[in-house]
Amino acid sequence: MDKEQKDSTTDETGVVRKFTGNLEAVLTDCSNADIHLLDAILDIVGALIIVSDVDGSIVRFNRMCETTTNYSFDELQGKCIWESLLRKEDVEQFKVDFAKIVDGQYPLSIENFLLTKNGQQRLITWSNTALLNEQSGQVEYVVLTGLDITERKIAEQRLQYLAHFDSLTDLPNRTLFYDRLSHTLGHSRRYNQMFALLFIDLDGFKHVNDTLGHDMGDLLLKQTAKKLPNCVRDTDTVAHVGGDEFVVILPFIKKVQDAALVAEKIIETLSEPFLLDGHECFVGASIGISVYPSDGDDIDTLLKNSDIAMYQAKERGRSNYQFFNTEMNSRALRRLKLENNLRKALERNEFVLYYQPKINLSTGKVCAAEALIRWLNPKHGIISPVEFIPLAEETGLIIPIGEWVLRTACKESIEWQRAGYPPIVIAVNLSVKQFRSENLIKTIEDILDETQLRPELLELELTESIVMEDAEKAIKVLRNVRDKGIHVAIDDFGMGYSSLSYLKRFPICRLKIDRSFVRDITTDPDDEAISTAIIAMSHSLKLDVTAEGVETYEQLEFLRALKCDEAQGYLFSQPLPAKEFLEFLDSSVTF
Ligand code: C2E
Ligand code: MG
Ligand code: MG
Repeated sequence: MDKEQKDSTTDETGVVRKFTGNLEAVLTDCSNADIHLLDAILDIVGALIIVSDVDGSIVRFNRMCETTTNYSFDELQGKCIWESLLRKEDVEQFKVDFAKIVDGQYPLSIENFLLTKNGQQRLITWSNTALLNEQSGQVEYVVLTGLDITERKIAEQRLQYLAHFDSLTDLPNRTLFYDRLSHTLGHSRRYNQMFALLFIDLDGFKHVNDTLGHDMGDLLLKQTAKKLPNCVRDTDTVAHVGGDEFVVILPFIKKVQDAALVAEKIIETLSEPFLLDGHECFVGASIGISVYPSDGDDIDTLLKNSDIAMYQAKERGRSNYQFFNTEMNSRALRRLKLENNLRKALERNEFVLYYQPKINLSTGKVCAAEALIRWLNPKHGIISPVEFIPLAEETGLIIPIGEWVLRTACKESIEWQRAGYPPIVIAVNLSVKQFRSENLIKTIEDILDETQLRPELLELELTESIVMEDAEKAIKVLRNVRDKGIHVAIDDFGMGYSSLSYLKRFPICRLKIDRSFVRDITTDPDDEAISTAIIAMSHSLKLDVTAEGVETYEQLEFLRALKCDEAQGYLFSQPLPAKEFLEFLDSSVTF
């Protein structure tokens, strides 16, 4: 750099470069008033200012520096900047930068830490200038002007963290997960490698949330987040992508089985009991696995397919893992279509009720009918409730659909009475969501009011699992129902795990023996024993018994001999549309 350039008074950034003599000389040339003025200015500027000689010895240290470092100027005067104020690991780099400044390569911005007297570190961003001696043309002093950016940096880092990590679990969030996934995908494409994506859903999360509260739910998620990384390698990514859903990216797997091993390890780990504030909880997890490149070539497909596989794993029962396959995809697509259509089915009037007669075994005549919903889909024809009720449950659509069933069953049965048919009990199935709904009693009351059906002609069918799930609450609801005069039956009895002590306390009037026991009642001694026991027990509890799924005369006679009260099944009639059901009543057949 030539002298002429160095002597220019100010550059475009406003940095003063011209200097005559050394700093001490300037100050001795000045009047006392000037010196005070300069000192005052140095001390009131909001920046840290350190002036040193070309060897780094400090000759000025303003008040801002004193406040920031807790050193007084007197303590540092004549000391070397990097020996007294820098972290060891920063010294080498600083010396390189400092040499550049002295060499005239300024202004040069540096960011580094200053060590304070009490050992703290403050992050400072410096802009540096050298001062020349005009006569010699040599650099004589270096002026470091710094701003303390420690707090700003912390805030920035915090923001950065919040944007990429989940604050509850401290795991990478959805954004960072997508980032890592797309990175893994790019890498795998380039090097022709396989990788796996594991979609993990906790099995008992909702139960913990509902019964122990959201705080415990959060605690469960936190503990899960701690356990998961122990099941994978450091290079794998575990992310929390929402609710009780976690995902794991396993980059560079050699064979598909590697992913299965990790899934097994995760399931095993999450099957161990969680201790939530003194409560021991058993949770477990369902895992869906998709593998690049066989299950998808892009992020969205791989994610969607691991999700589909996870649902499949859930359907197979708790604590399972499942690899994606294409057949699943077509099932999932049908399900998705079904769900979309189900939403519109009510307004399009696509539901109908079929009625299946129940026969009183002492008179042999029809005494009641069970209303069973059917979906008349314009494209798929009649869709069984077995297919769409679980979907309606999951989506919450069961509430309006269930209300429609109740209203229609009550309305049609009162119409039959008005048409001159003798009153018969009409049985309606309730789903778990309906039973838990706060509005259940009010809805039933309104419908009975509206239709003028006598409450004792309505019977609600609930499965064992629905009432046993929260037995104490069920007892309260059922009492309320009974007080209104409505009957309650336990459906599919024998399939669940009823506690007999509760059974005694439930205000119910009937048990329906599940048809799986009735099917082989005449040939399988176990089924015979179970049915006999259920009938005997019901009678001692003063409950009536209905046998479901009676298809043969042998079964009928067998049940009659056991003093079963009612029977229902294809032997008498399939479920029928209302018109045909009335024709069946008209025929007055006796069994
Ligand atoms: P469920 O309440 O146990 O109904 C009895 C089921 O057994 C009916 O199936 C009926 O058609 C069938 N069934 C009756 N007799 C025989 C027989 O002799 N042999 C055989 N193999 N099957 C027989 P469906 O109509 O397909 O209904 C299936 C299930 O769907 C019902 O089981 C019930 O849990 C549910 N469901 C039906 N309608 C409704 C509804 O309106 N609301 C709710 N929440 N669930 C419903
Ligand atoms: Mg039923
Ligand atoms: Mg049943």
